[in-house]
Amino acid sequence: MKPFAYVNAANEKEAIAALGPDRGKFLPIAGGMDLLALMKDYIVQPDRLVNVKNLDRTISRSSDGGLRIGAAVTVDEVATHADVARMYPALVHAAGEVGTPQIRHSGTVGGNLNQRPRCWYYRNEEFDCLKKGGSRCFAVDGENQYHAIFGDGPCHIIHPSSLAVPLMALKATFRVAGPAGEREVAAEDYFVTPDRNLFGETVLQPNELLTHLLLPPPGSAKSATYEVRYKQSHDWPLASAAVVLDMSGTTIRGARIVMGAVAPTPWRSQAAERALAGKTISEQTAIAAADAAIQGAKPMTLNAYKVQIARTAVKRAVMKAAGMKGNWA
Ligand SMILES: Cc1cc2nc3c(=O)[nH]c(=O)nc-3n(C[C@H](O)[C@H](O)[C@H](O)COP(=O)(O)OP(=O)(O)OC[C@H]3O[C@@H](n4cnc5c(N)ncnc54)[C@H](O)[C@@H]3O)c2cc1C
Ligand code: SF4
Repeated sequence: MKPFAYVNAANEKEAIAALGPDRGKFLPIAGGMDLLALMKDYIVQPDRLVNVKNLDRTISRSSDGGLRIGAAVTVDEVATHADVARMYPALVHAAGEVGTPQIRHSGTVGGNLNQRPRCWYYRNEEFDCLKKGGSRCFAVDGENQYHAIFGDGPCHIIHPSSLAVPLMALKATFRVAGPAGEREVAAEDYFVTPDRNLFGETVLQPNELLTHLLLPPPGSAKSATYEVRYKQSHDWPLASAAVVLDMSGTTIRGARIVMGAVAPTPWRSQAAERALAGKTISEQTAIAAADAAIQGAKPMTLNAYKVQIARTAVKRAVMKAAGMKGNWA
């Protein structure tokens, strides 16, 4: 590992002051689970790490009746918080499924949402792919069984954060702070596709930090996340879906549907949302939404199987959110 300086920032202000404008030179470190692995593999080689574990580590009620979650809160604290469980079941479920207990205890919300892609070509220093400034995407003709089935490239990563999927469905806003002050970015606008930024996955500038998640009051909305994994192991899901339903009795007034692990960002399907709006909830309605969600999928050479998995995830997430019976483990 290349030598680096370490700044133990006591608070948000000190952390921002210790970052800089050059991408990749000064990096925030929280639990370190993703970042240290990238450094050991020579994928990123920062000059300075800035400890951001002293950012806000609380979950509190906001004045509008929603929740405010600090970036230094751990994934486990989200997964086990009574208010999060009561107000946002989709988020609690996703947090509880992240990795292993050890990973959930060390990993922070800020680190989880800003973790880098898991593409094995990106993670291997021998492959100088597009994302590292090279001239080709090795996944196109290579081992692309876990890559994207949506999006137009030129890089075909899948977004790795399980928390991002329900946060986008729940219309969360992210508070971002930097030397020029603070701003709020809708979760939907925070993650960017590779055609907009090949070398990063968010709108965050190198000298900015994600400091808080702001969740709007859920009202009477019902939400759920459904993830499909190889087995009940610690690994990332093959595909997932988060669904928020605004129901009046058995009628769906409106819905938000976001898929995970299928595209370079969490992938919202407005077609699936339209398929539910105004309909009576039933298995058939959930299937119609799932069919709509996979329209436009463009699988690569080895991952057509993911289309059916994404479809199943959407169908089951809709039924789970609506409180229908099923095997939703
Ligand atoms: C075996 C295994 C299985 C896993 N399974 C899953 C899974 O199913 N779902 C899932 O979502 N994740 C999974 N993970 C990933 C894990 O959850 C993340 O690596 C972890 O949450 C990162 O948090 P951290 O605090 O350790 O981040 P760090 O490693 O410290 O940071 C990660 C990145 O975020 C940046 N960063 C950190 N904090 C901030 C901030 N406040 N503002 C801006 N940038 C910041 C860092 O610079 C770095 O680039 C898995 C990991 C492993 C090893
Ligand atoms: S999918 Fe992206 S990160 Fe992976 S090899 Fe292609 S360009 Fe690189």
